[in-house]
Order: sequence, then C-alpha cells, then structure tokens
Amino acid sequence: MRFAAHIITAYPHMFPGPLGESLSGRALADGLWQLQTHDLRNFGHGKHQNIDDTPAGGGAGMVLRADVAAAALDSVTAIADLPVILPSPRGVPFSQKMAQDWAQTDGLIFLCNRFEGVDERFIAARQPLEVSLGDYVLAGGELAAMVMLEAVLRLVPGIMGKAESGMDESFSLANDGLLEYPHYTRPQEWEGRAIPDIVTGGDHEKLAAWRRAEAEALTQKRRPDLWAEHRAKSEDEKN
Ligand code: SAH
Repeated sequence: MRFAAHIITAYPHMFPGPLGESLSGRALADGLWQLQTHDLRNFGHGKHQNIDDTPAGGGAGMVLRADVAAAALDSVTAIADLPVILPSPRGVPFSQKMAQDWAQTDGLIFLCNRFEGVDERFIAARQPLEVSLGDYVLAGGELAAMVMLEAVLRLVPGIMGKAESGMDESFSLANDGLLEYPHYTRPQEWEGRAIPDIVTGGDHEKLAAWRRAEAEALTQKRRPDLWAEHRAKSEDEKN
C-alpha cells in the first residue's frame, strides 16, 4: 500500500512545493507515495464560491464555514479512511514520536485552514486531530502540513534510502530521545581545527561511548526539558 497524502486547501497549487524536491520528490515521481489535493473552493457557496464568513459576535478576520469544511472533508473520507489532521496553533505539539506513528499508517488527510480558524462546530462534529508546529502563528495550515509530511515521509518504509538512518537520530526512540552527537567529514583539518582523534581512531566501542556522552552533554545543556524526561524514563526502567 502506497502512503497517500490528501490535502484539503484553498491553495492546491502550493503542493507538492518543496515536497516535490530531493528524497520526497524522487519518491513521489517513483510512485512510492501519492499526493492528492482537494480544492476547498469547489465546496464554496454562491457565485464566488465563498468558503469563509465574518466571525459571529464580531472580531478580526474571517472564519472557515463549518458546512464548507465538512463537505470537503466528507468527500475525502468517503474515498480514504485515514487519520484527519487539522494544523492549528491550539493543537497538541507535533513530535518525532507522532511522525513515527503516522509513518506506519496508510496515509493522512490534512485540512489546511487560513483565516482566523474554522467554525468550532465543524471540529466538534468531525473531531479532527488538531496539531501545532509550535508556539507561533503562521498564516495558514499549508506550510505546517508540508513540515509534518516531510517529517513523516522520511520515515515511511521504502522512501528513505537506508531504513536505519531514519531511526537513530535526535528525539528518536533508538537515540533514547536525546539530541544527536556531532558529525564530521573531510578535510581532516580545517581552519586549524582537527576532527577529534576518537572519531577517526577506528575503535568502534570507544567511538560509540564518546558519541553517547556527547549526545547526553548536548541534551543536558541545550534541552533541560528533554534531559529531565530522559532521566525520568531511565529511572522508571530501573524500577
Ligand atoms: N486565530 C488563530 C490563528 C490562525 S492562523 C489563533 O489565534 O489561534 C491561520 C491558520 O494557520 C490556522 O488556522 C492554522 O491552520 C495555521 N497555523 C497557524 N499557526 C500554526 C501552528 N503553529 N501550527 C500549525 N498550524 C498553524
């Protein structure tokens, strides 16, 4: 089964965009995953195919209509039984764990919103999973969907060259949720800086221990939140 990405958006020409390049682009051309956009405008009302309206009770901006969002989503769920994601700053924070879980599915449906948001009754009735990229506000869900898709696609079996390269990296389970160790490549010396001897010395056990120590030190220093989570998990496993 090929991984299928369904994107509901008023700006279908934004896709595949950056996903049409590099690894994901080649995989798309090779048919290893498929992308289908669904134009929200096709579900709009009236001569101008309106999809939004002014907020009830007043306030800035426009709101995506519940009936339009539902008609668009229902037309997609009728052909694809897949998890429905609504990118939203109010959502649960996106994570590598989520990307790993979603990579095991047959695909995803993204409802990309613009404006101030979507009518709350649509969310109550269809219960999409609201997911946030972080604590900042974008102008629309399209770039958020692309970011999430890119993180997922590189973990979908068969898309990334080497299966293991997707697993042993920052935030991944195989890496105990730590940040990744430092990388080096030729030249051996650059601007007076040499690659640490232990990296090129050929002792694989020592190198693995060094990388682990570097990953731990980096995580402790830069991400005390991740470090605390990692420590708590290690304690749990001991008990
Ligand atoms: N009025 C909203 C922001 C709307 S931004 C609020 O204050 O919460 C317009 C759209 O961009 C959102 O509906 C969502 O689809 C998308 N978006 C904005 N920021 C996002 C984020 N951090 N993560 C995911 N999607 C986001």
